[in-house]
Order: sequence, then structure tokens, then C-alpha cells
Amino acid sequence: MIVRDIIIIGSGPAGTSTALHLLKADPSLAGNMLLLDKAIHPREKICAGGLIPHTLDCLKELDIPLTIPHVQVDRALVRVPPNREVFCEDGGMCSIIRRDEFDFALVQTARVRGAEIREGEKVLTLVHEARGVRIETENDTYFARVVVGADGSGSRVRRQLIGQDSIPVGKAIMCDVPVADTSWSGFAQHRYDFNFLPVPQGLKGYLWEFPCLISGVPHVNVGIYSLGDAPLGNAELQHLLAQEIESQ
Ligand SMILES: Cc1cc2nc3c(=O)[nH]c(=O)nc-3n(C[C@H](O)[C@H](O)[C@H](O)COP(=O)(O)OP(=O)(O)OC[C@H]3O[C@@H](n4cnc5c(N)ncnc54)[C@H](O)[C@@H]3O)c2cc1C
Repeated sequence: MIVRDIIIIGSGPAGTSTALHLLKADPSLAGNMLLLDKAIHPREKICAGGLIPHTLDCLKELDIPLTIPHVQVDRALVRVPPNREVFCEDGGMCSIIRRDEFDFALVQTARVRGAEIREGEKVLTLVHEARGVRIETENDTYFARVVVGADGSGSRVRRQLIGQDSIPVGKAIMCDVPVADTSWSGFAQHRYDFNFLPVPQGLKGYLWEFPCLISGVPHVNVGIYSLGDAPLGNAELQHLLAQEIESQ
């Protein structure tokens, strides 16, 4: 059995920032804090990758410069039913990153600052014991006085230690299109777009277009998000996304 004071399940931004804040508050935790993740970084993540000013402040607080490629957004175009366009402008609205690169950078920083991170290790079972929690993974058994659940929206930690059932999660589809293959003006204008026009058709969410850089090449990240209990099925979401891409 592997014993640590603190075990954090999940090494996405919630897990790594918890580790980084704890290490900042008490550097002696280095070597006694472990993160477990079923994935291996850099890993894909469905997310538009917008870092709002609060997120950038959190990075500053942790002394983490934003060194990975990012695109600054200063304008937003929001389409709302029945057919209205709302335009907002505000310097430093958002910085768009790619989540595989961002999460990997946070993992590397946490490692350098003393966090131990085991990747490719899925947590299967968590059991309350007298003085802490026993954790069974595919590879090992662990014990920690403190366990942090940072394992995302379908959290196994929440289900097994707190006892909450799975809540219906949202659905999202996204893809990346080179800006050169579109007539989209958002990249050049440092703008991101949100489209709520299909809400009357049953969409409980929105479509988005975010500018981003992939291997240095300007792209538009296009996606659709809908709450899990929305009446639209996967085929209808795909159809709306295809329409959005064609309209660019
Ligand atoms: C379509 C969409 C667009 C979004 N756009 C934005 C945006 O522009 N800006 C923004 O700030 N947020 C955005 N979000 C939200 C953002 O993606 C989440 O808030 C963020 O990913 C949450 O981070 P996290 O660390 O809690 O979880 P995650 O990033 O999901 O990390 C959880 C980690 O836990 C690991 N894990 C899960 N189960 C286990 C297990 N059993 N054992 C071991 N490891 C496990 C996973 O592998 C994963 O690495 C968006 C979300 C969606 C769905």
C-alpha cells in the first residue's frame, strides 16, 4: 500500500492548481502529495480554451507565466433570437489556449515544484476508512488522510465518497478549421462569437467560434454545446454544427 498525506484524483486544471496552491502554502508537502490521472498528458479535452481575466490572475498568483501559444480576444459577437446581433468590446476579454498544451504545462510546473504525478492510472474504488481513504487503481492500492476529487464532471470521487448519483452532463462537439479555408473575420478582429439562434429549435446551449493557434497556424475552433436533457439528439447537434461551419 502506498501512503501519502494528500492524494488528488485528476490532473486537469482543478487538480494541478490545487497542488500548486498547496505547495505554495506549504512547500514541505513536496514528496508527500500525489496526483493520479487515468489519462497521459498532453491529452485531448473538449473545451473552447478561453482563459478569462480571473484565470489569468490565478496564474499570476501562482507565478506561472502564460508561455504557451495563445490568442488574445478583445471583442465578442453574440447572436440571439429572433435574429439580433450584440457586439461587445473590452480590451483583454479572454486569452484562448489549447487545453492539451495548457493542462500539460500546468502538470509540468506542478512536477517541477514537487508534486508527484502518476498518469495512465485510473481510480476504480474509493473507500472511507477510520483515518482516511483507501484508493484502488488499476495498478496499486493507496491510502491518504486527505483526498481531493478533481476528476471532472462525472466525478467518481463524488459518486463513491459523497454518494451523489451521476447528474446528466452536457454534450459538446467541436472541430478546428484553418482560418484560411473560411471567410470568418473573427481571428483578424481578435473576436469570439456565440450563437444562441437555435435555442427556439430546442438547443439548450449555444454554438461558438473561437480563434486559436494550432502549430502556429490560425484556426477557428467551432463547437456546439447542449445540456444533457435537451430534446435535440446527436444527429441534430451535428447538423447544426455543420450548418455553422458552412456559414463561415
Ligand atoms: C464545450 C465546453 C466548452 C468549454 N469552454 C470553456 C472555456 O472557454 N473556458 C473555460 O474556462 N472553461 C470552459 N469549459 C469548462 C472547462 O472545460 C472545465 O471547467 C474544466 O475542464 C474543468 O477542469 P477540471 O480540472 O475540473 O476537470 P478536467 O479538465 O475534466 O480534468 C479531470 C481529470 O480527471 C481525470 N479523471 C477522470 N476520472 C478519473 C479516474 N477515475 N481516475 C483517474 N483520473 C480520472 C481525467 O483524465 C482528467 O484529466 C468548457 C466546457 C465545455 C464542455
